[in-house]
Amino acid sequence: MKHDYINTGILRLTDFQVPPPERRRAGRVIMIECVQNIPCNPCSTICPQGAITIEGDITNIPVVDFSKCNGCGLCVANCPGLAIFMVDESIGDNSAEVGIPYEFSPFPEKGEIVSVYDRSGKIICDGEIVRVRNPKSYNKTAVIYFRVPIQFSLDARFIKRKADKAKTPIH
Ligand code: SF4
Ligand code: SF4
Repeated sequence: MKHDYINTGILRLTDFQVPPPERRRAGRVIMIECVQNIPCNPCSTICPQGAITIEGDITNIPVVDFSKCNGCGLCVANCPGLAIFMVDESIGDNSAEVGIPYEFSPFPEKGEIVSVYDRSGKIICDGEIVRVRNPKSYNKTAVIYFRVPIQFSLDARFIKRKADKAKTPIH
């Protein structure tokens, strides 16, 4: 299959494994956007559930068993390529929660409204910070969870703090 990202540098949903809608509606689950054959495997060695495998050569692409992932976030924080994201469509209220690896400081605060960007770097919506996770096991990379309208659940990939740091809900 020809992949546009080789020319554009921007991944599409057809370039990697996407958890099926019924799994996304059941709660937190990862999406791995790692598409190049690089010698790397922390995602598969750190997962306590055995949900990520790299068969054979270490340069092979990781494969996810979505039924085994419990959404703990360890792999999101420990992927050196910042290539793993979390999605949760079980929230209701026409919103979804997205989790991203985050290495900027200071962290946004719970309740803060941020600008949300897609894979191309375009602002697609506002998001509301719901949780900042930064335990020692995350190895200094935080995982930031934010809420977006559900139609953006698979495309929200980065956040930026607004200058006014407004704290009004998005719904
Ligand atoms: S989120 Fe946790 S359970 Fe799911 S694949 Fe990553 S490390 Fe494994
Ligand atoms: S740890 Fe990240 S960059 Fe390395 S193989 Fe896994 S998903 Fe890809």
